[in-house]
Amino acid sequence: MTAHFKVSAGRTACYPVTREHVEERLGRRAPWFRQGQRRGDDQHFAVCPYCDNAIQLKGVYRRHETSPRPYGSHVGTPIEGFEFDQIDLEHCPFRLSRKSHGKSDRREMGPVARQLIELAVSEFARIVLILRDDFSFRFSDAFAERMLDQWFDSCGFCYTGAHLRNLPWMIAYFGPAQPLFGQAIGANAELADRVREKVPQASVSESGRLERGSAWFAIDLQCLHHRMEVEADTGELHESMKLRVQDFTASNDATVAPTIYQKQIIFAPDRFERLIHTPKERARRDAGLLERAQTIAAKWQL
Ligand SMILES: [Zn+2]
Repeated sequence: MTAHFKVSAGRTACYPVTREHVEERLGRRAPWFRQGQRRGDDQHFAVCPYCDNAIQLKGVYRRHETSPRPYGSHVGTPIEGFEFDQIDLEHCPFRLSRKSHGKSDRREMGPVARQLIELAVSEFARIVLILRDDFSFRFSDAFAERMLDQWFDSCGFCYTGAHLRNLPWMIAYFGPAQPLFGQAIGANAELADRVREKVPQASVSESGRLERGSAWFAIDLQCLHHRMEVEADTGELHESMKLRVQDFTASNDATVAPTIYQKQIIFAPDRFERLIHTPKERARRDAGLLERAQTIAAKWQL
């Protein structure tokens, strides 16, 4: 069961399944509404915001025995007026109830993967905005570009744990382990303190940049451990990953290199969706980042 719905497939807004939203957004019109033989048999349909397939909204007017609140349930078969894709349906996090996925697990290309590619390129500036916020420092445009490039290279859009509501974090997750040398890490005070304390040969400048110190060092950042879990009571999907910074100065082996900083990043799809639905006249987007994203996409020719 899902706790959210969209009116139609594609880049459309996402709403919680409540009686108010169902009445206001869907109304009693086809294809969202089908009148039953008796009053209690009326059916409401909408679109799953994770896989773009049809869901039936249940418990909107009559509370369901098994659920304390309204919810969306996948129809599972083609239904008139809605798009249908079997592979995307099978990989919807509400159908494929896995808490973790192998980072190398891939599914076939389909409408969701194509939509992820389109979003990754056209919304790259906002994706980077979200990630800089989550990392608590402003990593460089080139750093961001390498993440997107690796996401394309790894076919991150076909990862079995990818869906329409976790794109920004999946781009970070598939990014390579990257050196922090030269990055403005100072805004993340905890990270800067740990670097000063644990890698004394490194230097953090007054402006917060990680610079050459008394001797050579190698400090890398990586995102790992993508986890997803559906909360049984509410139907909310909770997702997270770890951001880890390790000191590779003495060893190139990730199992040996000391971890100097770690942070759990909780995915917040609402935040990203608010950004992408900002009215054009109020939106400010970084043209340089968008240009970089277009160049990368053109290279991969997908
Ligand atoms: Zn779904």
